[in-house]
Amino acid sequence: MKKVLVIAEVRDGQLRNVSLEALAAAGTLAEGGEVVAALLGPDTAQHAAVLGQHGAGTVYVADHADLAQYTPDAYAQALKQLIEFANPDAVVLGHTAIGRDVAPRVAARLGLGLISDVTGIEAGPVFVRPIYAGKAFQKRRFEEGKLMITIRPNNIAAGEADAGKTATVVPFEAEIKDLRSIVREVVRKTSGKVDLSEAKVIIAGGRGVKSAEGFQPLNELADVLGAAVGASRGACDADYCDYSMQIGQTGKVVTPDLYIACGISGAIQHLAGMSNSKVIVAINKDPEAPIFQVADYGIVGDLFEVVPLLTAEFKKV
Ligand code: FAD
Repeated sequence: MKKVLVIAEVRDGQLRNVSLEALAAAGTLAEGGEVVAALLGPDTAQHAAVLGQHGAGTVYVADHADLAQYTPDAYAQALKQLIEFANPDAVVLGHTAIGRDVAPRVAARLGLGLISDVTGIEAGPVFVRPIYAGKAFQKRRFEEGKLMITIRPNNIAAGEADAGKTATVVPFEAEIKDLRSIVREVVRKTSGKVDLSEAKVIIAGGRGVKSAEGFQPLNELADVLGAAVGASRGACDADYCDYSMQIGQTGKVVTPDLYIACGISGAIQHLAGMSNSKVIVAINKDPEAPIFQVADYGIVGDLFEVVPLLTAEFKKV
């Protein structure tokens, strides 16, 4: 492909890691062609250097006040104009809350094909994506025309930074008008210090934690491992934690290197959000719990005994 455009994502002033993974995917698609990137919103130009070190030759920066917070209207307008201007053969976004929302809108407006939630790219290019709540994988390819893909975070490895590489920054004037919604305030409920959807290690609690206080041993283990804390819907429904922590079919989809499920039975809807984790450890006092069928390591026992023991052991390392 001659030119592949990555739409980078910045959250709370930080460049999201999935943007670097998208650059790696773009490098695979470009096969020696040009990789470019885009940053949307004020104060995002500072991230152009990192994008350059990861392979973007040009970084378009749409420094527009209406792009400071995500709104479907403003982002879709800006991205449509940007894609028309940059004229890439392919566009790559993260399969994040923003990517999932804006990619279909822009693809429809521009008449582009879209393959979403890509977890791997094979020669062709052939795009691999999970279907049936992660029970099977589908391989798809584009027959013709420009293409757009969203990639699932934590699946396509980001390349190494090359400090010798730099990007040319090109300001882009987006014309944004007739907004039907504006963001006045963002009230964010966070599950911890580490962003769940990009965490390398996740400690997840289910109804087995029995109360909001029951998450405390999980939080302590997470602190030691630098992990994020997630939950099953059972735990969220029982009001032990906030829904922002929910992992699964109707929650967040995660692919960490290590997923430790504590007091989670392993319902299919939960597995849909975590079964692609690289290593799964299950702690459950019921040896028949379905979670053990997907676990690489299983500990049959009471989480309130096992989790503090793990924390104590990891502290020694
Ligand atoms: P339970 O099934 O009650 O399991 C609790 C487990 O804890 C048991 O296995 C028990 O043996 C173990 N346990 C209890 N005490 C201890 C202890 N002291 N030590 C160790 N183990 C202990 N669920 C999701 O998680 N995410 C979703 O996105 C999701 N979406 C859904 C969408 C739909 C349309 C529907 C119908 C359901 C969805 N669900 C989802 C709900 C799902 O079906 C299950 O009800 C839910 O996952 C169960 O949560 P749980 O495993 O925490 O609870």
